[in-house]
Amino acid sequence: MKILRTVKDLRLWRSTHKTLGMVPTMGALHAGHLDLVSQSLKNNSATLLSVFVNPSQFAPHEDLDKYPRTFDEDVAKFRARAIEIWGAQAVENTDGLAVFCPKVEEIYPSGIDLRVSHQKGTFVEVLGVSHQLEGKIRPQFFRGVATVVTKLLNAAQPTRAYFGQKDVQQTVVVRQMVRDLLMPVEIVVCPTAREPNGLALSSRNVYLSEEEKEKMSVIYKALHRAQQRAQQALNENKSLSSSEVVNGVMELLATEDAIIDEVEYVSLNHPDDFAEVDEISKGTILSLAVKLSNGVRLIDNVVI
Ligand code: AMP
Repeated sequence: MKILRTVKDLRLWRSTHKTLGMVPTMGALHAGHLDLVSQSLKNNSATLLSVFVNPSQFAPHEDLDKYPRTFDEDVAKFRARAIEIWGAQAVENTDGLAVFCPKVEEIYPSGIDLRVSHQKGTFVEVLGVSHQLEGKIRPQFFRGVATVVTKLLNAAQPTRAYFGQKDVQQTVVVRQMVRDLLMPVEIVVCPTAREPNGLALSSRNVYLSEEEKEKMSVIYKALHRAQQRAQQALNENKSLSSSEVVNGVMELLATEDAIIDEVEYVSLNHPDDFAEVDEISKGTILSLAVKLSNGVRLIDNVVI
């Protein structure tokens, strides 16, 4: 398995492979990331995992410095998953597995200041899908994501790039960006991996105690119950308003108001342009974000 630290080395390695699957991550890998890795391993002759904690998607007050970094374990998990899918012999003999873990200077040659007003150089903004929900709470987040994904895709030029449904608005932003900038890559979105109790896996779950994780299973319970109710209404050709669905979710979340400090949003949006919808239809995205009393934010979503 190759460990690539520069764009130059990445391009050299890339040039020897016909099809490439890429899994962009910020590391601290969990089973959700590894599901994306599995999909890539199954469908491409070479797979690149990128591990880069991208400064430009963090606001100055956010957790960039304390974001979990577990590089050696990440490489070991990638390797173990490759052995599971390809077999030990194939993994020993291949040149088709690599981890790209550049330094910040490699990705931001002009430097990067977390204060947007102080930034210099080129940034990518995807208008229309970046300002609502996550973009409202974290105004520089999608600008940072779109910028780094552009840089990573330009550097690696993968055939396919794999993203998680867990960050549904991010998938809408990336798809739109790839379409608008005529990028020759197929975006593949994989289902959300969850704890047995339903809590969506996230690198930031390490900030939660076991008790908090158990209590936060209420998030998926609320989403799942709303999803079933909405599907039943659709099956029976009954109309169901967004506000009825939102109220149902809020009611269940309120049962854990001792540790949920704030429900930042519960929203129903169109899957293509992420516009808010008043009436539910098939494919509508129900998503939410909560802030816990210990400061941790959790997001999750289901598709109706
Ligand atoms: P991150 O390292 O958090 O930036 O995530 C890297 C990729 O993994 C993104 O495409 C995420 O959407 C995806 N991902 C994160 N958590 C999950 C999950 N629980 N299930 C599936 N994909 C996930």
